[in-house]
Amino acid sequence: MADPVHRTLLASRAPNRNGFDLARNGVREIVLLTLGWQDLPKAVSVDGADPALRMREPVPGILLHVDGGWLLLDTGFNTGLMRDAAFRRRFYGDPIHRAILPGPGEPLEEALAHAGIELSEVHAVGLSHLHLDHAGGLRHFTGVPVHCQRRELEYGLTFEAERHAIYRVDFDDPKHDWRLADGQVEVAPGVTAVPTAGHTPGHQSFVVDLDDSVGGGGYVFAFDAADLSENIDDDISIGGRIDSTPEECVEQVRRLKAIAGERSYPLIPGHDPVVWPALTDELAGRFARTSGR
Ligand SMILES: [Zn+2]
Repeated sequence: MADPVHRTLLASRAPNRNGFDLARNGVREIVLLTLGWQDLPKAVSVDGADPALRMREPVPGILLHVDGGWLLLDTGFNTGLMRDAAFRRRFYGDPIHRAILPGPGEPLEEALAHAGIELSEVHAVGLSHLHLDHAGGLRHFTGVPVHCQRRELEYGLTFEAERHAIYRVDFDDPKHDWRLADGQVEVAPGVTAVPTAGHTPGHQSFVVDLDDSVGGGGYVFAFDAADLSENIDDDISIGGRIDSTPEECVEQVRRLKAIAGERSYPLIPGHDPVVWPALTDELAGRFARTSGR
């Protein structure tokens, strides 16, 4: 259990709410965001794929309405680094991995505006890992709890990390309120981080339990433990790995499948260009908002 973190989140968001049964409080709404796209070789996502095959994959963000506010899982690209020519050469200059922004403005602001949610309503952030397409928007969130595995941040702060598209400029800000975990942890009511190292040294996936008031059930979000549905369906390792083997990465997907199977939850891959838009629409329908939250 993550009681200190859990209490802090509740205290910071819902100081006047008393007496509810924590065990019954789940997530009340899920909003999927597409914070950009990546044009890249399929072999990054699927180990051993034909090197000539390329894909265009969505960059995921997930908003979860938990007790007292919104929790955001992953934050997209750092547009500041993309728009300055010298930074762009250093951080986004790889012609093999092309980052594509969804619109002319700041992707997070545009996606949140589309969802009718203010940036200031995001009261905590969870990071699956620190790659450029997941931690790049963290600069918007100083002073709110940021949940990450300790191992991931330790690795991210090494010089070596930059060779693997983990850029400390994205997250090395003393104003971030880090909440570092050493294993599985409940980061908010109904949101559990599950370590799935392999893609990066401290990668984590998230189990989301929905509140009974919205029909219960839930989802397991693999993030980059499984980029595509074929990583899940065919037990094929992701291609992008740091200090791990394909077998270890497949084992993490099997663990996630077991967790999802126990709860009868779907296991959602992190970058699937078919699954992500379809689930975005499905959840928008399920949680169609009329007034207030
Ligand atoms: Zn990644």
